[in-house]
Amino acid sequence: MFGMKFKHVYCQDCNILLAKYNTRYFSDVNIAELVRIHYHSHIKEGHSLITRIAEVL
Ligand SMILES: [Zn+2]
Repeated sequence: MFGMKFKHVYCQDCNILLAKYNTRYFSDVNIAELVRIHYHSHIKEGHSLITRIAEVL
């Protein structure tokens, strides 16, 4: 099996993992768009959202 790469989206202010996106299906642009739609409440509060690449074997 090939490893799959996921992009993890964290909120640094809430200290939680908000979402995981498989990079095979979601481009950076898609992810940025989805994060803006689904987590706008964090953004509106001025929270800093960060993304990290995680590989799952
Ligand atoms: Zn937050």
